[in-house]
Parts: sequence; C-alpha cells; structure tokens
Amino acid sequence: MSSFDSILFDFDGVLADTEPAHCACWAEVLATVGITLTWEFYRRQCVGIDDRDMLRMLAMQSDPPHNWDDLWKLYPAKKRLFMARMTTNPPFDPALAGFLEGLKGRYKMAVVSSSSATEIEPMLAAGGLRQYFETTVGAESVKRYKPAPDPYLLAAERLRSRAPLVVEDSAAGIASGRAAGFEVLQIHHPAELPEMVGRRLSTCPS
Ligand SMILES: [Mg+2]
Repeated sequence: MSSFDSILFDFDGVLADTEPAHCACWAEVLATVGITLTWEFYRRQCVGIDDRDMLRMLAMQSDPPHNWDDLWKLYPAKKRLFMARMTTNPPFDPALAGFLEGLKGRYKMAVVSSSSATEIEPMLAAGGLRQYFETTVGAESVKRYKPAPDPYLLAAERLRSRAPLVVEDSAAGIASGRAAGFEVLQIHHPAELPEMVGRRLSTCPS
C-alpha cells in the first residue's frame, strides 16, 4: 500500500482515447459555419482545455472573426454526435476494467475532467466502469477550469482525500493538479495507464 489514499483520473487521454473523436465531432459541426479545425491544431492547442476556451481561440483566429458564443451554440450538436459514437463503441482499453478492479477497495477513485459529467458518465456506464468511481467532477461542477486547481480540489474534498495521486496527460491538467498541491503522474496515452500507475504505486514509500 502506498501513501496515497486516492487516485484522481483525468478522463480524455487518460481513461479513454477520446481526443481524436472530440476533434472529429467538433470539426464536423464547425465546418457548417466555415471554420476548419485540424487534428494538428487541436492536438497542440486544445487538448486539456475547456471547450469554451477552445471556441474563444477559434473565434478570434477565424477570418472573418466569429463571436465565440455563436460557436458555443453548436455544442449540443457536437455532444449528440460524440455521444452517439462513443456509447455504441466505448473508447476504453481492454485492460482498463481489470486494472481498476485491482485498485478497488485500496484507493478511493474519481474522474476529474474539463468535459461535462453528462458526457462522461454514460460512457463509463456503457463500458461497465461506473462502479469504480465515487464521483465525477466535470466542467459543470466548477467555476474555474483546469489549469486552475479547482477541479482537483473539489474531487479531493468530495472523497475526503488528503493524499491523492493525480493522473494526467495534458499541460493544463498537470498544472491544475500541481496547483492543488497534489502529486501528478503524467501519461501519454491511455494504453500506458496500468503500467505507469502500477509502477508509481509500487515505488511509493508506505
Ligand atoms: Mg486529458
């Protein structure tokens, strides 16, 4: 047993390989108003940040410029498209359920994301993973998103955790976990998750 009492998982890019699908769905709905969103731009600039911040960036950069709140009106269409794709084909690594089963009872676990909990929870349910997490902190749960510390502080408070391990993939998420004062483990792809977390927990002094 390590000195951590909980594990706080980011969702996109950590528990689920969703970033390419988020990008494809946004690209499809933004194309209807003449905005091109490429994977290269999304990967470099948009991973880990709130959708509203992404749309503010795209609105300013587009020619002619758009109002970002006009682009935000496309969110329901993007969400419908994304949910239809993700709940029929949940984007989880086959090893994930066994990995979480091994942690269950040893660590309290939560999902902490800049996506909406209403997007995440149906995916967890479709993948049979909902039971492993005590709570989901989504974009609607906080006023300030990652890289602010608020999402991770709220998750720790809900779990009554004093020593969480944060698992993140993006710069904004890592900054958020560190600003909360927690240790952050960075991974680069969901397929790495079991090995990286397992290694960190086994080398942690008890
Ligand atoms: Mg992420």
